[in-house]
Amino acid sequence: MISNLQLEYRGIKAKHIVFCEGYQMVDNPFFNSLPLVGSKGEILIIRSKKLQSKAIIKASIFLAPMGEDLYWAGATFERNDKTLQKTTKGREWIEERIQKIIASDYEVVEHITEIRPTVMDRRPLIGTHPDYNNVHLLNGFGTRGVLGAPLLSKWLFDHIEGECELPEAVNLSRF
Ligand SMILES: Cc1cc2nc3c(=O)[nH]c(=O)nc-3n(C[C@H](O)[C@H](O)[C@H](O)COP(=O)(O)OP(=O)(O)OC[C@H]3O[C@@H](n4cnc5c(N)ncnc54)[C@H](O)[C@@H]3O)c2cc1C
Repeated sequence: MISNLQLEYRGIKAKHIVFCEGYQMVDNPFFNSLPLVGSKGEILIIRSKKLQSKAIIKASIFLAPMGEDLYWAGATFERNDKTLQKTTKGREWIEERIQKIIASDYEVVEHITEIRPTVMDRRPLIGTHPDYNNVHLLNGFGTRGVLGAPLLSKWLFDHIEGECELPEAVNLSRF
């Protein structure tokens, strides 16, 4: 149940709710009118015993160590396909780049697809629902969640608790 006075979910009562659902926001009835576009990315998890790299390598793709000889390699960028279908084309595209970066043998352990929560104007979507002052959104991190999430989360927290204004550039009220 949601109203401006009370918020309750499965017996949990709260003053506020913040939806941080990534691309799945498209199914959220409070916020699904916002222009979340979505950009599919494919990733390979590879194992290479010989590589022994502790550094994150950034070339045409990222190659990031995960421990136990595993590395995160990717990613592709696809605007039109919104499915989580893995593709041979995506796998080959990443493998071609891996082979340009490393000379060591490797095996592909996993092939993953995700949808990045990209926005039409390429800016984050944070703020409060226009009709419910206790329903909030933290989304639209696009391709740079690692960089943007800490500061944007703080801005949203200060907005909710301190009633500070959000910068217009990231406020969902721009739509
Ligand atoms: C292929 C790929 C490459 C990327 N490369 C980079 C990069 O190089 N640099 C960078 O900074 N970032 C990168 N990212 C991160 C990305 O671009 C996003 O910005 C970031 O993941 C967004 O974080 P988020 O928490 O908003 O959403 P997500 O990471 O999508 O997390 C949302 C979570 O909420 C869960 N969820 C959704 N709905 C519900 C619900 N109703 N109930 C409970 N749980 C729910 C989902 O299962 C998911 O775990 C990459 C992402 C992908 C997919």
